[in-house]
Amino acid sequence: MRLDGTVALITGASSGIGEATARALAAEGAKVALAARRKDRLDALAGELDGLAIEADITSREQAINAVETAAGELGRLDIVINNAGVMLLGPIVDAPVEEWERMISLNVQGLMYVAHAAIPHLLRAAESEPRRVADLVNISSVAGRRVGAGGGIYQATKHAVGVFSEALRQEVTERHVRSSLIEPGATKSELVTHVREEVRGNLTPSSIEILEAEDIADAVVYVVTRPRHMAINEVLIRPTEQVR
Ligand code: NDP
Repeated sequence: MRLDGTVALITGASSGIGEATARALAAEGAKVALAARRKDRLDALAGELDGLAIEADITSREQAINAVETAAGELGRLDIVINNAGVMLLGPIVDAPVEEWERMISLNVQGLMYVAHAAIPHLLRAAESEPRRVADLVNISSVAGRRVGAGGGIYQATKHAVGVFSEALRQEVTERHVRSSLIEPGATKSELVTHVREEVRGNLTPSSIEILEAEDIADAVVYVVTRPRHMAINEVLIRPTEQVR
């Protein structure tokens, strides 16, 4: 299998895109470490995939570092990190509950950065060794990281930040064969929208289009991390075919 002998850490592995990605990477032969807050879900998935469940709230710097160190320590190395945990609390900026902004910024931006920062030394080391002599940090942004519009400004701002971070870091480490990649999904089935406040959710246009499955995004992640050593997929934007913006 293409990822035999590698170790992958997936944040937000307890549902949606993270869970599907963990399954897909395990199917390619990676040993998977699964991080999120809902330990019962992680335990069930870890049992199925023979992986490692790590309970972590990655908005805490300490817990984010601990998740990375536990994955690398228990599984012996770290070749791939999928920086996926995120929350989307849509709504207008005017009169917004500012706690929602804090939740998004602390997870989508700070948490993602903490995980990347802690993981980079391990990824650099993995990139110097067999079996692949290359390592991957995959940052999950969103189509919202490319567009600007009313009704989701802070979520968009967090995902724009992910894009900037991913590219700046890419330039720092790519010559040492650590690939920092950005994946920007459009509408995908998951629990993401369930966290949107009731009064905002009620105003969202009901989607009549066929949206993506979490497995579609996992497929893209597998594509990115299984490219040959000399080839880096820097950015992937994936929309449901019928999604216009
Ligand atoms: P889900 O809500 O299904 O998954 C979010 C994951 O993040 C869960 O596993 C959750 O686990 C984890 N998480 C939330 N808070 C924390 C925390 N403080 N610490 C650690 N983990 C946490 O949604 P998706 O699968 O859709 O979302 C995954 C990523 O994809 C997000 O970054 C999202 O922005 C992005 N995305 C999703 C799109 C979509 O349409 N679904 C479109 C574009 C981007 P737990 O609650 O157990 O901690």
